[in-house]
Amino acid sequence: MAARVTESAYAGRRNVVPGAYRGVAVTTVDRELDDASLSDHFLGRDAYRRTRFIVVRHGAQTAVVAVQKASEDPLFSPITGLQVLAGPDECVYLQEPEVDTAIPTALAHAAACSAPGMRAVVVEGRYHHVSFILDPAPLRVTVREVVPPYPAKLLDQVRRVLATAEHLPPVELVPDVVELEDLARTRPSAGYLLPCRGGGVSVEGASTDYLDEHPERREWTLIGCERSQQIHEWFYGERADQVDICPRKRTGGTGAILAKCCLLESEIAVDEYADGKGVVVPWGASLAQISEGLTRLAEEWEPTWEPA
Ligand SMILES: [Zn+2]
Repeated sequence: MAARVTESAYAGRRNVVPGAYRGVAVTTVDRELDDASLSDHFLGRDAYRRTRFIVVRHGAQTAVVAVQKASEDPLFSPITGLQVLAGPDECVYLQEPEVDTAIPTALAHAAACSAPGMRAVVVEGRYHHVSFILDPAPLRVTVREVVPPYPAKLLDQVRRVLATAEHLPPVELVPDVVELEDLARTRPSAGYLLPCRGGGVSVEGASTDYLDEHPERREWTLIGCERSQQIHEWFYGERADQVDICPRKRTGGTGAILAKCCLLESEIAVDEYADGKGVVVPWGASLAQISEGLTRLAEEWEPTWEPA
């Protein structure tokens, strides 16, 4: 019973999220949530062997504590140590039935939307499971894509991967999506050649042909990637006037960047940009490849993050 509230093992860490075996217990107490009361209430009390964190509620107030037990072997064991990770002044309890609390990105998103600026956000989410995020600071990932087709495919795929990514640190997406029509307008031409009919791009006053239909050669500007240019050369024996749409070649933007490239067929590449480091996935990347790409980005940018 001599153990006291000590400095948290999680001090100084950002994006603290309990791991897959969350070990988060929730309890309501009939006392204030100051350090002394919490210590007095929990030390010596039995806790389940998997319990590592306790979300403590008192009226509208919430605190989060980490606990150590005398042993992890028996089903229940007395609590011998306790650290207050977040007191009631810096902690909020959200009920968000749609949020999968096992997904760090989902926790960070809920925190940013419903409790911006709060240090500790507890979420009661899907299945009524409860977890929390401490000091949220999601990794901002710029996603480079061209449209149409809609929705922007790489961005949409990344969102779907993140929705189930239990192993990644919290990520916040920064879309960098460019319209093919806008790219075409940067190079006025009487005619444009697009890789395929896919998105129905058209520029007023100009003709539009589609490379995959192998049209008869005429004067045009190719709105396409290097691979389309190679196909053009194969078909017509020469390279076309071109606006290169490859997101990999886009400049600007800082930090973590995810792009795709026409010339990558199965591998993933890591690129150095002037102000950032990026991962490039194949043009037609699968969800598995995008998951691998995000994992690489996280390794580059958040090398020390792991679930708590
Ligand atoms: Zn490319």
